[in-house]
Amino acid sequence: MIPSVMPTYARFDVVFERGEGPWLYAADGRRFLDFAAGIAVCSLGHCHPHLVKALQDQAAKVWHTSNLYRIAGQEKVSKRLAELTFADTMFFGNSGAEANECAIKIARRYQFDQGRPERYRIVVMTTAFHGRTLATVAAGDQAKGKYGFGPETEGFDRVAFGDLDAAKAAIGPETAAIMLEPVQGEGGMRAADFAYLRAIRKLADENDLLLIFDEVQCGVGRTGKLFAYEWSGVAPDVMSIAKGIGGGFPVGACLATERAAKAMVPGSHGSTFGGNPLAMAAADAVLDVITGEGFLDHVNEIAGVLRDALAERVKRFPDLFEEVRGLGLMAGLKCRVVNSDVVNRLFEEGLLAVPAGDNVLRFVPPLIIERDHVEAAMAILDRVCEAWRKNS
Ligand SMILES: *Cc1c(COP(=O)(O)O)cnc(C)c1O
Repeated sequence: MIPSVMPTYARFDVVFERGEGPWLYAADGRRFLDFAAGIAVCSLGHCHPHLVKALQDQAAKVWHTSNLYRIAGQEKVSKRLAELTFADTMFFGNSGAEANECAIKIARRYQFDQGRPERYRIVVMTTAFHGRTLATVAAGDQAKGKYGFGPETEGFDRVAFGDLDAAKAAIGPETAAIMLEPVQGEGGMRAADFAYLRAIRKLADENDLLLIFDEVQCGVGRTGKLFAYEWSGVAPDVMSIAKGIGGGFPVGACLATERAAKAMVPGSHGSTFGGNPLAMAAADAVLDVITGEGFLDHVNEIAGVLRDALAERVKRFPDLFEEVRGLGLMAGLKCRVVNSDVVNRLFEEGLLAVPAGDNVLRFVPPLIIERDHVEAAMAILDRVCEAWRKNS
């Protein structure tokens, strides 16, 4: 009999009852060190006091009004994010996929508005992940998300991630935009070369294409800058964010320049729930903490500690691991053994991690972790690796 919860996930048999910082406590008494953070979502760990208070305060005022009316939280959060980024304007949704849907629509509508309705295609990348709606599944390169769901949504041309010449060659008279993740997460924790990002920016400019960065996973402090594009020295025209911005509350946003979004007029796009007062209270509180004095310095410092520790494990266990991947606290270990087996054994020992594509073991801990959390995580990893050797 089919379970009442549609079985679209292979879940661990655990129910978490309570969380505090980087720790999760299960109903059966087990305690876990959470280096998964709800897949890079719980950027400030669990039950951060500032977030708890912000949501509690807002919950006692008003939860939801719809976008028929002005929402003070949207006005505040958008002003903050506009000041902190390349963007002039933004649309609020509830997820990464929705943020990307909006980005795709902005690109098509931009070209249409320029009198070039034939330009609707988007150059996308191998091993990309952009979400699970029909359009974002087509934009992404994850076969399991496409299987059996009928004809793929039209309008995406895929080239090798990192290959500038391939991107050049893929641009034609129907191209509207180029879309990529500055650091791929699902696809295997691959950070794009900064020089490549700069060259892609130039390519977009030369062809009047919009450049879309999907920072759903790598944004909001995860790489040690507020947004990953800052490392490259160039900015996109459109950027999707989600995951970390709500700290665990579902929030997504599509940020854009005025030029890119000028055709997004009343009625062109919308969402019932998007940017509701509760969501905006969460996002505003997350921004308070992440933009606080010294916060990103801490992320960079602790990311260095984690990455050095992981590099040390590559040296110590060359039969198990090949290399360290990613950027900042988006860290991956390319495995020589099956990544999900390692994740399962870490789970048994009390450490949460996430498998990523290309057989990578992914660590995306809360940004608030300290040195002793990294040490505790590495002690578990060492234990698992040593036991692995003994048993094989
Ligand atoms: C998680 C993710 C998405 C999809 O976000 P959802 O909130 O699951 O829709 C899109 N892009 C990237 C890069 C992601 O990591």
